[in-house]
Amino acid sequence: MTEVERAWRADFAWRQGWSKDVVLAVDGTGRWREAAGAASAERAGRWVLPGMPNLHSHAFQRAMAGLAERRGRSDDSFWSWRETMYAFAAAIGPEALQAIAAQLYVEMLKAGYTQVCEFHYLHHQPDGTPYALPKAMSLALVEAAREAGIALTLLPVLYMTGGFDGRPLAARQRRFGHDVSGYLRLLEALRRHEGPAVRVGIALHSLRAVPEEAMRAVLASGLAQDGPIHIHIAEQLGEVQDCLALRGARPVEWLLDHAQVDARWTLVHATHLTGHETSRLARSGAVAGLCPSTEANLGDGLFPLADYLDAGGTLGIGSDSHISVSPVEELRWLEYGQRLSTRHRNIAARGQGESVGETLWRAALRGGAQAAGLPVGELGPGHRADLLVLDEPSPLLAARGTDAVLDSFVFAGNQQLVRHVLCGGEWVVRDFHHRDEERIAARYRAVVEELARS
Ligand SMILES: [Zn+2]
Repeated sequence: MTEVERAWRADFAWRQGWSKDVVLAVDGTGRWREAAGAASAERAGRWVLPGMPNLHSHAFQRAMAGLAERRGRSDDSFWSWRETMYAFAAAIGPEALQAIAAQLYVEMLKAGYTQVCEFHYLHHQPDGTPYALPKAMSLALVEAAREAGIALTLLPVLYMTGGFDGRPLAARQRRFGHDVSGYLRLLEALRRHEGPAVRVGIALHSLRAVPEEAMRAVLASGLAQDGPIHIHIAEQLGEVQDCLALRGARPVEWLLDHAQVDARWTLVHATHLTGHETSRLARSGAVAGLCPSTEANLGDGLFPLADYLDAGGTLGIGSDSHISVSPVEELRWLEYGQRLSTRHRNIAARGQGESVGETLWRAALRGGAQAAGLPVGELGPGHRADLLVLDEPSPLLAARGTDAVLDSFVFAGNQQLVRHVLCGGEWVVRDFHHRDEERIAARYRAVVEELARS
C-alpha cells in the first residue's frame, strides 16, 4: 500500500524555503513518502511548489462573475450585489451546479489551487422544497471535484434566519434553509462520502443567519467533534452594527466569547476588527479566511494585516465569488490593499530582508491546509501529493534565483506561470492544459447559455 509508486526530481522544491535537488516520491495512496529507494525519479522541473488550498468558494457564483459590474439606481454595495446573486441562484439545479463547479475547479487547478473548501448553501429546490435526494446539490459538488481532479473540503452551510432579529428567510432564501435536525441529517449523509480527496466539515452561514441556540446545538452534536468549522463574519459594517444592537457585541468579539474558537475554525473575511479583536483572533489559533479580490469587488473593506501578523495570526486565501480565480492575484491584492492604505511598501514581510511573496505563500499554505482539515500544503511525507511546476522557460523567471523566484511569481506579470499541476499523485494539468478541459468547458458553455435564456 505504501510502496513507492512514482518519484520526481525537482532542481528546487519549496519546503518552507527552497531546497536543492529534491526527490519527491508518491505512495499508492497518493501521498508523499520518504524518497529513499526512489532512484529512478523523472525530472519535474526547476521550481516546484506545493499546491495552494483555496479556503473559500461558492462555486455557482463563477457563472455570474462580471454580471454585477453595472451601476444601479442608488449606492451600490454588497447588498445590491446580493440581489443579482439571488436572482441567479434561483435558476441553478444539480446538473447546472456540477457543470459550473467542474469548470471552476479546472480553472482553479490551472491557476495553482489543488484543494477547494466549498461553502455550500444552495441546498434545496428554488421554492425551498428538498430534492428527492436531499444531498443532491452537495453531491453535484463532490462529482465536479472528482471530474476535475481537485480535492474538496465540503462545508454544508447552516442557514436559518434572515437577520439578527431572527426574522424568517425571505422567499428567495428558502432554498438555503434547514432546521438543526435537518442540517445534522445532511451532515451525516455527507460524511459517508469522505475519502482521501473529500473532507466534510461544518459551516455556519453567519451570525445573522444562525441563532445562538442553533449554533450551540450544532456544535454540541457528535458530528461536530472533529473536522473544520467555517463561518462568514464581520464582512460588512451593517452586520457589525446589527450585531452590536442585538447581541451587544461586535461579531468577532461575540463569537470568541460564545464558542470555543480554536484551530478548527476559519473566520471568513473578519474584515472589520478592533485592535483587541485582532489580537484575540490571532491568539485563538483560528484561520482568518481572506478573499481579497472578492472583498475589493464588493467594497467590503481592508483586513488589518500587519497587526494580525504581528500578533502571530494564521491566514489563508479564498476566491469566494470567483471574480478572480488565482492565488497569485489574491496575494497581490492582499498586499497592495495594505500598501495603498498605509502608503508604505512590503507590509506582509515583518522582518528586515524578508520576502513578501515568500511570507504570503508560506502563510497561505499553512492556513489553507488548516482550514481544509486535510494533510495538504507541504512537500513532505504524509501530505497529499500535490505540486505545481513553474514555467521554467518563461522570460518572467529569467535569471531569477531562490531569493527572487517566488516574489516574481506572486508579483510580476500577468502570464500564467503554473505549467504543470499534480493533485493526489496524478497529473491533472500538463503544459498549461487540463486533462479534460475541452469537454468540461463545452458543457459549462451550454449550461450558462441555457441559464441566460431562463
Ligand atoms: Zn462567502
